[in-house]
Amino acid sequence: MKKTQYKRILLKISGEVLTGQGDYGIDPGVIQQIAHEVEEVKNLGVELAIVIGGGNIFRGIAASAKGMDRASADYMGMLATVINGIALQDALEKIDVHTRVQTAIEMRQVAEPYIRRRAIRHLEKGRVVIFAGGTGSPYFTTDTTASLRAMEIGADVILKATKVDGVYDKDPILDKKARKYDEITYLDVLKKQLKVMDATAVSLCMDHQIPIIVFSLMEKGNIKRVILGDRVGTRVRG
Ligand code: UDP
Repeated sequence: MKKTQYKRILLKISGEVLTGQGDYGIDPGVIQQIAHEVEEVKNLGVELAIVIGGGNIFRGIAASAKGMDRASADYMGMLATVINGIALQDALEKIDVHTRVQTAIEMRQVAEPYIRRRAIRHLEKGRVVIFAGGTGSPYFTTDTTASLRAMEIGADVILKATKVDGVYDKDPILDKKARKYDEITYLDVLKKQLKVMDATAVSLCMDHQIPIIVFSLMEKGNIKRVILGDRVGTRVRG
């Protein structure tokens, strides 16, 4: 049987994945599917922390383009990630996967505040830790949150789960000739301005040499495949 090479993983789930075939909100079927995949991965014995996005509900930058104050819009975006975090926690606990949600913006009635050492303790005890509320600061993204938390908890890798099956040289939806990379360096992502993650997130990973694997969550079983070292998606490395 194949064994995983990772001990501790940071999984970033983009909000857009949660919409399923739609373009807004949370599809219950999709979130249940993700929960089952997470359970499968837990059973491999890896420690798993999840950073959840909020783009399926609210994106600060889009609202600010329509005239809203950027910082206020970003705080709304961060609250959206908490909604997703609670939804994911619910789906996981329904199938007996123990979880804790930690938020970067305190809201004690719904989740623990983010405390690094406590998060690590939860992981060691086999709980899935869901980081919600982004970094807690406007002008950042949940991709940057993923890089930051990955470093803080000492994750071996960041798995970025989206609706696209890897990193392309052009937008594959707009251009049929777009080519997918199997591997690419952090520097090339930055130089070519590829839309894998924002530059802050990529440069954080580059400075600390944390590999990123970008892959699609739309295909069943992909998280497990990635963890077992199958060639899925695109690997971003030094
Ligand atoms: N956000 C923020 N600071 C953070 C993380 C997120 O202000 O540290 C806000 C920002 O407005 C962003 C929204 O939360 O648009 C949702 O996060 P993101 O767009 O990263 O979610 P995803 O694209 O992964 O669904």
